[in-house]
Amino acid sequence: MNVLVLNAGSSSFKSSLYQLTGEVPSDPVVPLWTGEVDWDSSGTVVLKAKTADNSVREERSGRSRTNDIHDLLNLLWSGKTQVINNIDEIDIVGNRVVHGGDKYRQPMLINPEVKAEIDRLSIYAPLHNPANLMGIEAIESLSGNMTQMAVFDTAFYRDLPEVAYVYPVPYQWLEQGIRKYGFHGISHQYCTRRAAELLGRDLGELRLISCHLGNGCSLAATKFGRCIDTTMGFTPLDGLVMGTRCGSIDPGIILHLLREGEYTVEELDHILNFESGLLGISGVSNDVREIDKAIDSGNAKAKLALDIYIDRLAAKIAYLLPALGGLDALIFTAGVGENHAGIRAAVASKLAFLGVEIDSYLNSLSIPPEAGVSSGDDRDLASGRSPVRLLAIHTQEEWEIARTCWQYLNTK
Ligand code: ADP
Repeated sequence: MNVLVLNAGSSSFKSSLYQLTGEVPSDPVVPLWTGEVDWDSSGTVVLKAKTADNSVREERSGRSRTNDIHDLLNLLWSGKTQVINNIDEIDIVGNRVVHGGDKYRQPMLINPEVKAEIDRLSIYAPLHNPANLMGIEAIESLSGNMTQMAVFDTAFYRDLPEVAYVYPVPYQWLEQGIRKYGFHGISHQYCTRRAAELLGRDLGELRLISCHLGNGCSLAATKFGRCIDTTMGFTPLDGLVMGTRCGSIDPGIILHLLREGEYTVEELDHILNFESGLLGISGVSNDVREIDKAIDSGNAKAKLALDIYIDRLAAKIAYLLPALGGLDALIFTAGVGENHAGIRAAVASKLAFLGVEIDSYLNSLSIPPEAGVSSGDDRDLASGRSPVRLLAIHTQEEWEIARTCWQYLNTK
């Protein structure tokens, strides 16, 4: 069976083709083909596709995004990276969809009603849901009767208790959809299941905090197999300090700036999403590797940015603890979590009062960051006597979507 996964974002479109047979495997399968389109703000479009033996890279100036996606997918069945003969050999397409609102608490087969709801929910996820829909429609225009599934990032949070998702504002706002939704759910779902495997224990008996630390950052608290709280909220702007997003700040700041007429709503939206976080404080970059270099050359603002990032991270982990009632493992994942030994060590040291202790040798080993590389590199970084295990797990969102589609096909 061929499962094509689409992960369409606001400035990139990623896709992977998995060939699967037999029962749903628990270990991630390496995709047969991966492809990516990157649209940068200057109008340059980069198309990349790769198989185990071949790769293609093309740069061009923009046509329509749908055309770029079609051209990328063409590389599946033509040229150096051909792995199938035509689109009809694909059995199902799994689409990552960021926002499923209250309604979609599990994966859904795409139909006109589901598409209309994803479109309606674009008011809550203006950067993501329209891009996700564009991916779905790009496939429809290539093959009208393809089975497509939407796998929602918000669905992982379906069991959040009211105390976690209701905001302390007038209750009627809840009826307008103003509540905590949570994001990065596909990554947290994969990592918590993988953590149970690594620990050789049942997910239903574990209390876990997963730290997804990429450009966007979020924590999820999972108690006995059910996610009970998360740091992102109504939007992906809340919670931790991120690459360019501010995380939690006093809402009074926004009211003050609007009242003073200093910025329009659109300008503030842009500043809080794209000019804040590590970039905003340091003035250097959203990328921790650049922040590290700046710190090494004595940049005090870069040091402050990283100190705030780590402080907030440890504080928000601690904030999740009472509801979990203890902690069996802390999971580090995504670009920063998987690769940055210094941030992992700093967080562990701030949690030393809980007995948390990292093994500095294991922590210093690096794991390959490319998607699909190997789940064999996932490991426990805690010292033998630490009561909390510290796991570095390579997140595999595309695989999680493929697995969901595969499960659906197997049980149909
Ligand atoms: P996204 O949220 O866009 O999927 P990623 O999970 O790829 O992002 O994370 C991107 C961030 O991860 C980069 O901005 C950088 O800060 C960090 N990062 C990536 N690779 C490394 C590395 N080898 N060492 C340290 N940090 C890294």
